[in-house]
Amino acid sequence: METVQPKRRIAVLPDSLANKIAAGEVIQRPDNAVKELLENSLDAGARSVVVVIKDGGMSFIQVSDDGVGMDEQDAVACFQRHATSKIATYEELEEIRTFGFRGEALASIAAVARVQMKTRRREEEAAVVVSIDGGGPLRVSRDAREPGTTVTVSNLFYNVPARRKFLKTTATEFRHVYDAVQRIAISHPEVAVEFVSDGDTILKLRPATLADRLVDVFGERQCSALIEVGEHTDLLTAAGYIGKPSFGQRSRANQFLFLNSRFIVNRTINHAVFSAYEHLLEKGTFPFFILFVDCDPRRVDVNVHPSKLEAKFDEEQAVYRMINTLVRNALASGDNVPGLSVQGRGPDVSLQFTPRQHDRGIPSGPATRLVDTSTGEILPFNTPGGRELASRLLGRDRGTAAPSGSPGSDRLEEHSVQPGGLTWQVHNKYIFSQIENGVLVVDQHVAHERVLYEKAVERLNGSTPASQQLLFPYTLTLSAAEYSLLSDVLPYFRQLGFQITPFGKNTMIVDGVPPDARMGDGEKVVTDILGLYREYQRESPMDIRDNVAKSFACRSAVKAGDPLTEQEMRTLLEQLSATTMPYVCPHGRPVMLRIAIDELDRRFGRL
Ligand code: ADP
Ligand code: MG
Repeated sequence: METVQPKRRIAVLPDSLANKIAAGEVIQRPDNAVKELLENSLDAGARSVVVVIKDGGMSFIQVSDDGVGMDEQDAVACFQRHATSKIATYEELEEIRTFGFRGEALASIAAVARVQMKTRRREEEAAVVVSIDGGGPLRVSRDAREPGTTVTVSNLFYNVPARRKFLKTTATEFRHVYDAVQRIAISHPEVAVEFVSDGDTILKLRPATLADRLVDVFGERQCSALIEVGEHTDLLTAAGYIGKPSFGQRSRANQFLFLNSRFIVNRTINHAVFSAYEHLLEKGTFPFFILFVDCDPRRVDVNVHPSKLEAKFDEEQAVYRMINTLVRNALASGDNVPGLSVQGRGPDVSLQFTPRQHDRGIPSGPATRLVDTSTGEILPFNTPGGRELASRLLGRDRGTAAPSGSPGSDRLEEHSVQPGGLTWQVHNKYIFSQIENGVLVVDQHVAHERVLYEKAVERLNGSTPASQQLLFPYTLTLSAAEYSLLSDVLPYFRQLGFQITPFGKNTMIVDGVPPDARMGDGEKVVTDILGLYREYQRESPMDIRDNVAKSFACRSAVKAGDPLTEQEMRTLLEQLSATTMPYVCPHGRPVMLRIAIDELDRRFGRL
């Protein structure tokens, strides 16, 4: 290989150049500077911060606080790289509780902009003013100021044209700065936050409780679609709010995760939340969440990213399980049944789903409920809250209803169905059932699908397969494609309860099926399930196990058009109430809706 340049001698870079290079890591755009300055203010104990920007922060950023301030010696020292008052030893880094600790932010900002810092400690008469341009020499003077600190950053990247070129439009940079301010505002409701951009006051937030701060930031309407969550284990405490499924977001912008008050992005936790919403969200939408995770700083490494935007947990798996369970339980025990409201007048009445809006998501009571779950089991309907909801939905808590099984047994026996509760079938398709405050309408096919799907998942996850021996085993003759597909998924089919054995060229013998398989026209059951499997796979590639369970459930469930006896309907409703997610089928279609008696009363002029 040719050497292009003659080799130079090794030399240590001058400080100003080293700082400029280091700045590239910490400060890439205005929002990074705003974040660093705000974090410094919070570390300084500020009760009130004001952020003023111009041109999305590109020409002007100013952050003022009423924190402890600095004396002249510190105000000069703080611009040196690795100058920090927050840690002195490695042990202190291990249990860091402040935002800063690298001592890089001010040095980096000062290397790539014109910076002025005006700061005063309470016990001093006047403020110190330190000015520094592009990492050059410091100028120190005095001025008047209330106790606290103001840092002004002008012309970011004026001396680094390559960086400047990477900046986007004013609107985009503004958006990023807004996000940075918003994150601080959410995680520190006790601090007053003001944000002014190009002369317009964007945020002016008084100190508040978390719930009130969220209303101030997001508005009443959005907050009414939130469910409060909270849980505490030996490992960590997690608390906050998650969006109801009806409140799916078009982007991931409204996902806030704070680890010990620091905003971070963590794939494990994000995925734990997202997968808890499985099948509940419309395709292409994302959950809204604000989660505060607190743990012993020694169990997590926050020093894995230059702007500390990522963190690494020691026990990643346990964290995943805990967050996933927390969100799942909240979603399943919350009352997420859509209500039916009848709109319009006269004969052409249109029916519409509307998410129920009966409760304000954010209670004003004590901030967080802490629930200790050591088992991590996801059986919300086996919890008192879940049971109560099930009884409420199915009207079982009325005196006339059946005793709800023996204590501890939640899957009710067929015999527990009693005359008296009104249940009827309409058009061999929908089950109507009278409930305490109205009527519940259930789609019989999707309801059964949900029940069978959960049973199938249980079996696929390891419980012993139950199988029903066929009196007359039969031979399946398959196409080459079907044969190879079935060979691939055979272990899963067996786990479900199918007894299938390959038998020579493109044929298999079936001599047992799961007890809840719906034979119908007998031999087609296996090929039908395979067909569905292929179809789902085409629509969206998913886990083999999940797909097998879905295909089996869909093929085996009662169909629209099947007449059901009252006994069968009630059994179905009770089995449905014992599922973890009775409101939606495995494909995300709603299973039930409710017509409130109030709605009927209104329509008939009784209210
Ligand atoms: P770090 O925050 O990692 O310590 P910085 O470069 O952000 O590094 O700040 C250097 C030091 O300057 C801090 O450790 C702190 O002592 C001091 N400092 C910075 N900003 C403020 C402020 N707003 N109020 C009081 N002290 C501050
Ligand atoms: Mg800092």
